[in-house]
Amino acid sequence: MKNFSKTHFIAIISAVIIFTAVILAVAKTSVFSDDSDLSDQPATEKNSSGDSVDSPSVDQQLLAEHYDMKLKLDTEKNVLSGTVTIDLNNQTEDTLTQICLKNPSVSFLKLEQPLAPRSQTQVQVPCSIKIPRKNDRFGYHKEGGRKTYQLTFCLPTLSMYEQGKWDTHPNKPGREANFSRISDYDIELDAPADYTVVASGTENRSVQGDRAVTCISARSMRDMAIIASNYIAPETIQTEDGVSIRCWNLDYKGFEEYDQFSLEAARDSMHLFSETFGKYPYEELDVVQGFLPDGINGMEYPGLVIISLPDVKNLQKMSAKKIRKQAFFSDLCCTVAHEAAHQWFCVTVGNDPFQEPWLDEGLAEYCEDVLYPQAQTDSLKKAIKTDKKNNPYFSFPSGWNKKEFQNYMEQMVQSYANQLTEGDSNYISKPCSEYGEEAYSFYVYEGGKYFFYELEQALGSKAFLSLLKEYYQKFYLKEATGQEFVALMKQHGAPDSLIERYIGG
Ligand SMILES: [Zn+2]
Repeated sequence: MKNFSKTHFIAIISAVIIFTAVILAVAKTSVFSDDSDLSDQPATEKNSSGDSVDSPSVDQQLLAEHYDMKLKLDTEKNVLSGTVTIDLNNQTEDTLTQICLKNPSVSFLKLEQPLAPRSQTQVQVPCSIKIPRKNDRFGYHKEGGRKTYQLTFCLPTLSMYEQGKWDTHPNKPGREANFSRISDYDIELDAPADYTVVASGTENRSVQGDRAVTCISARSMRDMAIIASNYIAPETIQTEDGVSIRCWNLDYKGFEEYDQFSLEAARDSMHLFSETFGKYPYEELDVVQGFLPDGINGMEYPGLVIISLPDVKNLQKMSAKKIRKQAFFSDLCCTVAHEAAHQWFCVTVGNDPFQEPWLDEGLAEYCEDVLYPQAQTDSLKKAIKTDKKNNPYFSFPSGWNKKEFQNYMEQMVQSYANQLTEGDSNYISKPCSEYGEEAYSFYVYEGGKYFFYELEQALGSKAFLSLLKEYYQKFYLKEATGQEFVALMKQHGAPDSLIERYIGG
């Protein structure tokens, strides 16, 4: 997520999700609705004898190996409904009598038959989800007859089960708690034929009268995002790394230059991060224009990012010339770079975005504000030039040489340190629930970026980037913890004082 320090989050509209009890003939497993939303407190799963479960090894995982979803989008009633079938593989030593599902709320579903250690089953979850009208990760945007549905953080997915406990942290506005292991997805989404469906993975569409069924296939992904819009169209670019980048642009007049910068920034940053950290695991990246709450400019998902448009209502009234005067294309390019960086840190290497958001947000901020500008890519150079032409007072640090950039960053690090409260320690590495709105951006995003910048200065660029490359390779399509990152840093010679100052002992 790309977040700014001064954010105003609108009140969440509770989504209505209904899980009904079904009996699945094939697996002879039934699931029953519990219906209760849970608090932030993690729940403890009991084993079959009723005792608390001893901490199992983290290698013992409960996996949702495959999701099969048959869904229908009703654009009249704004409801997404259908059936989600999950193939579960219990590799833990625990007997599970219930499973925890997330999105949009958190619910426990009782299994008709306990799921024994080292066994598999299939559960089926019928769902009917009311889609709220709001510019958010889950919601729809409407202007007259034009509509865009952002169907993310809403599909029932298995919550993490670790050390005998379920992760019951809900996704809240401006925060993320969507932490899952890698799964495969096969989804059929039935929508009106005039809607285009874009999703994580690849899409195949077949039209039947006034409806169209889009078959979405995604392999080795830890989340699924679906966008459906009746006024969106793609522009594709093939990168030199063999990844197809598709920018999905909403049909607004005067946005051509904006669309072009999005595409070029995606191309440049995907290439830069592939070269720097290693191969991107998927065939495609969809860069989708969308609508997010004030203060949030982008959001990452596997194989798909949402880039929020500026204030559309006002821009719609503007001429193309005025848009040029008002839009800061360098900001747009940096937001795209931030979300692209998450494809490496968050999507490919997973980490718990609720407990340890500094790991992926700090790295995405570092990539956006240090690596991408220093690479002096064509997209950013061109955007800075355009912004300078349109706004005489505009300046951007990457327009300077390396030494000047370093001086600028050192001033920023110092100014950041001056703003810290006396006695502040391990300030970047707390769970997101321990920060207020502004503090979350200040410590996790800004602090995270400066931590990685200072680490780079301490180790030298080459050694620092090889550390990140090793981190990426070691946890490729797996999950990392802050502790594991710290251990790796120490192996690479990171100074204890630096680690202690930002992260704690
Ligand atoms: Zn982010």
